[in-house]
Amino acid sequence: MSKTWYPVINKEKCTECLICVNHCKHGAYEERDGKPYVINPENCVHGCHGCGNKCPVGAIEYVGDTTDWIPPNGKKDNISDCGCGGGYCCG
Ligand code: SF4
Ligand code: SF4
Repeated sequence: MSKTWYPVINKEKCTECLICVNHCKHGAYEERDGKPYVINPENCVHGCHGCGNKCPVGAIEYVGDTTDWIPPNGKKDNISDCGCGGGYCCG
C-alpha cells in the first residue's frame, strides 16, 4: 500500500529554518547541507499537521489532505491531533 499522507515542502517559500526537521519526532525529515528533506514520508502520521503548523512561512502542505486546514502564517491549529499519543508532534 502506498503512503497517502505526507508533507511536501514548497522550496520557493522555504527559508531553511529547519524547524520542521527538529519538530517531527517520527523521523520523516532529515537535514542535509542545511536544507530540510522529507526522506521518510512513510513515517509521517496520517492526519498530523504538526510540522505544517510550526512552519513560519507556510511552506508545508500534505499529500492526501482533504481537510480545510490552512498552512500558517494563517495559523490554524484546531486540526492537529494525529493520534500518535506522543503529544509533541502535533501542536
Ligand atoms: S505531519 Fe507530523 S508526523 Fe508528519 S512529518 Fe510533520 S510532524 Fe512529522
Ligand atoms: S519549517 Fe518551513 S521554512 Fe523552515 S525549513 Fe521547514 S519547510 Fe522550510
